[in-house]
Amino acid sequence: MTQNDTIRIGVGYDIHRLASDRKLMLGGLEIPHDRGLLGHSDADVVLHAVTDALLGAAGLPDIGDLFPDTDDAFKDADSRDLLADVMVMIAEKGFLIGNLDVIVHAESPKMSPYKKKMADSIAKVVGVEPDRVNVKAKTNEGVGPVGLSNAIACTTVALLMRT
Ligand code: MG
Repeated sequence: MTQNDTIRIGVGYDIHRLASDRKLMLGGLEIPHDRGLLGHSDADVVLHAVTDALLGAAGLPDIGDLFPDTDDAFKDADSRDLLADVMVMIAEKGFLIGNLDVIVHAESPKMSPYKKKMADSIAKVVGVEPDRVNVKAKTNEGVGPVGLSNAIACTTVALLMRT
């Protein structure tokens, strides 16, 4: 990366399985549902995709390299804390967030009642104005692991600007 880079773009993707006896955490929000996402951390698939998009844009290692799921330190970790750590790294590299565009892929529960709250929650974790974060939701038309409600996935694009 050269000092001439004024904007940098990154993409993040994640998927986690739905399982019983788990809280459903999406974008730092707890969403009422009969199942939650399974993972070593709180399995917040939205914050994981956001984190990876930001790391990619900054040219940093990915979330799995930084916070390995084999490390007990990250067992049941709050993904908001991991993302907050990444925001420090990004600031140290001289970047701030231009915007985040997030797609939640979920058949159930329906995401529409939560999109705005989720955007506000993500904005709070990364420390930007709410209008810099957009959350969209898609079902998977009943096909594949997401469509059969066995998993929830997230895709995120992040734009960073040099301060
Ligand atoms: Mg993950």
